[in-house]
Amino acid sequence: MTPEDIVGALEGRGWKAEIVSQSDVEDLVDVNEQGLFKCVDGRLSDHEGMRGPKALGGVYAIASVRGVRDLAGLQEIVKEVADAGYVPSVHGDDHAHPAPMGCGFFKLWSTNQLDGFEPPEYDSEAGKAAVMEVGGVYEQLEGSHSESVVMINLVPKTTLEPKTDQRFVVDAWITGEFNLDVPTYLVVAAETVEKLNGPLHAKIIVP
Ligand code: ZN
Repeated sequence: MTPEDIVGALEGRGWKAEIVSQSDVEDLVDVNEQGLFKCVDGRLSDHEGMRGPKALGGVYAIASVRGVRDLAGLQEIVKEVADAGYVPSVHGDDHAHPAPMGCGFFKLWSTNQLDGFEPPEYDSEAGKAAVMEVGGVYEQLEGSHSESVVMINLVPKTTLEPKTDQRFVVDAWITGEFNLDVPTYLVVAAETVEKLNGPLHAKIIVP
């Protein structure tokens, strides 16, 4: 998919979408080894490693798009992400019950609300435990959502850090590193934002 294809697909869903050059995104940063491979959720975190790739639900992005629904498969993906040089993670928040259901993407996936995706065979607490058992991280996000835009980043090995003025950050370049189907991934990303009542406004960052 070209950036123009992505704009067209989003506009077809009723979104406003525009292409921006990386040189015009002043807070775009290189990913580093301490950064979590973490959720696109724009809220602030209790973890310091924010310069890692942002994907739907963290490692759940890879599991869901590949149709991997069991805990053993999830743990293999955690190891794969670590082997790729990232810190695998999932998250919850400070007010969901149970806390790991505070991930909107996991909640939609696990309650069978994503078109074309079979839900996982485990719940949020079992997923969290399985990820941590093989060295992954659980982060807790704080407060409520107030994202005003969805940043779809196509510049490899770069990301945006969470900030008080929230935005969803979809580092879509990870589809190349983890061999994920690009249209499938971007459609479920758009669907997730829509079902979380997020902003239907995307900026697509290109090299
Ligand atoms: Zn999440």
